[in-house]
Amino acid sequence: MNLIVDGHQDIAFNALYLQRNFLMSAHEIRLRSVDSKNGTPTVGLPDLVKGNVRIVFATIWVPPCLPGVDERPCYRTPTEAYDLAIQQLDYYKELALQGHVKLILTQGDLRFVLEDKKRVGIVLLMEGADPIVSPEDVHGWYAAGLRILAPSWRATRYAGGTHMPGPLTELGRELMVQLEKSSLILDVSHMSDESFFEALELFHGKVIASHSNCRTLVPTDRQLSDEMISALIARNSVIGSVFNNPFLLKDWKTGMAKSQVTLNHVVQHIRHICSIAGNAFHVAVGSDLDGGFGVENTPMEIDTVANLDRLASALTSDGFSAADVESIMDGNWLRILEESLPA
Ligand SMILES: [Zn+2]
Repeated sequence: MNLIVDGHQDIAFNALYLQRNFLMSAHEIRLRSVDSKNGTPTVGLPDLVKGNVRIVFATIWVPPCLPGVDERPCYRTPTEAYDLAIQQLDYYKELALQGHVKLILTQGDLRFVLEDKKRVGIVLLMEGADPIVSPEDVHGWYAAGLRILAPSWRATRYAGGTHMPGPLTELGRELMVQLEKSSLILDVSHMSDESFFEALELFHGKVIASHSNCRTLVPTDRQLSDEMISALIARNSVIGSVFNNPFLLKDWKTGMAKSQVTLNHVVQHIRHICSIAGNAFHVAVGSDLDGGFGVENTPMEIDTVANLDRLASALTSDGFSAADVESIMDGNWLRILEESLPA
């Protein structure tokens, strides 16, 4: 079975906010889960192991207080965002301390995870940069283990985001200067178009889109336009494909039949990026499983994260070569890590 690298999962949020025990399988969590707001769980550590999902870019994602969704811990100020983010950082550190996962901070850690068949590797990704109180704090976050920074979710103090368009703010421009001085990877998923292009102009380091699909196929501002995809390819970037049905099939809405979306829809998005690139080096998996949606909103063939390998079969059936399938399932993300992590 192919090794799989997944570019996006909200593990800490689900553990700390939805009381989902990451050490249990998704099926065990389903039996105990009291919070059904975010759908039926699909991710547990035993499922990652079973599915050979050996590396996950795991998020530190804290929600801003928005009208109507304030009952869970959310932030109103940068300091509140910072405090909540530190709880998630500590959660991952504790998981690693107990030996359940290995935090990948260096090339050595990456090699360790690839050689050790038991330990799932975690690369820390902050989604929404508001916990970074001041732009120069990125260096402290890097020292603490953060390796990937996504300035936006909705709009933040730094940039325009999903459904909240706008340019980089003055603080956002300063953030790009500090990012450039650090070795952090910039994650442009969720960035508004205006902020996206401005960021690529100001920042010359490594760029990814951890979890984004194609706007040509699903026309919303959450997905990447062909122009954005081309700009990312020109930067030797990688784009993670999201397994969320509304992002896969135009006009599919929560509550509609799961069977209407299959892994062939994921393949179509992947195919589109490959056709723009002329190769298969710029697309990967960024499932976002349990990222605010459950099994009801995933393609027909997906029950848990252990089924991600079924994408490899779908790609093969569609005519992708064995080498291309390997690039998409793990090779492209591994290349990004090899090019970015410190020795
Ligand atoms: Zn997201």
